[in-house]
Amino acid sequence: MVRSLEPLWRLTPAYQKSLAQFARHDHVKGPWIASVEFSKDGVNQVFPQYVDLIPPAFTVGGVIPSFFDSLLGNKYVNRPIGAIAMRRDIQEAFTSTERRFIVAHEYSHIMMNHWPMALLGPVLGDIAGSVISGMKDDTVKSALQVILPLAKVLASIRFTRQSEIDSDLHAMKLVGSKSTAESTIRKLARIIDDDNLDVPTHYVFVDGAAVGVLTYRDRLNQISNAK
Ligand SMILES: [Zn+2]
Repeated sequence: MVRSLEPLWRLTPAYQKSLAQFARHDHVKGPWIASVEFSKDGVNQVFPQYVDLIPPAFTVGGVIPSFFDSLLGNKYVNRPIGAIAMRRDIQEAFTSTERRFIVAHEYSHIMMNHWPMALLGPVLGDIAGSVISGMKDDTVKSALQVILPLAKVLASIRFTRQSEIDSDLHAMKLVGSKSTAESTIRKLARIIDDDNLDVPTHYVFVDGAAVGVLTYRDRLNQISNAK
């Protein structure tokens, strides 16, 4: 059966002006970032098994480093390229300043290349795994084989946690308001998790189980401690 993706998402033009301002602030070229909105009902119709796993806003993309200049041409390098997806009911619940903070947070992930780096992590882990399995000293080899999976999990937890904190803090700079950052995160907790600030906002998956890496409260603390 072919399932139509039509109820799932559509392109929205709404954020191009903010994105252009953020790129100017960061001294990078004009961004090519598509804004996409999706609905929870749409996800439920097409991928019911994922409905609770898809975050209310997320990003794919990154900045191609100028190292690739000769390969791709300078039209593409040093420029934020990607897409920002936001759930429709979330967009409607926030004020335009709060929405701008969410867009700034997602843009920051693209600007700081978090997505390509997150994809690279497991690849490096696999390379390390094959280096270890080729080792001759059995004692060292079995010790490293015990440590490697743990190291991979810890690296992924630390990376996810730090990339969310970095994006929050950069977004706060982009919108120029600590109180907007705080009210946005408090409102997310209210809408999505019954106002419970100790629920994780992000997870990493370890052997199929979701492990929370940071909570609303962690994020609020980082924001309130920032200069
Ligand atoms: Zn994020």
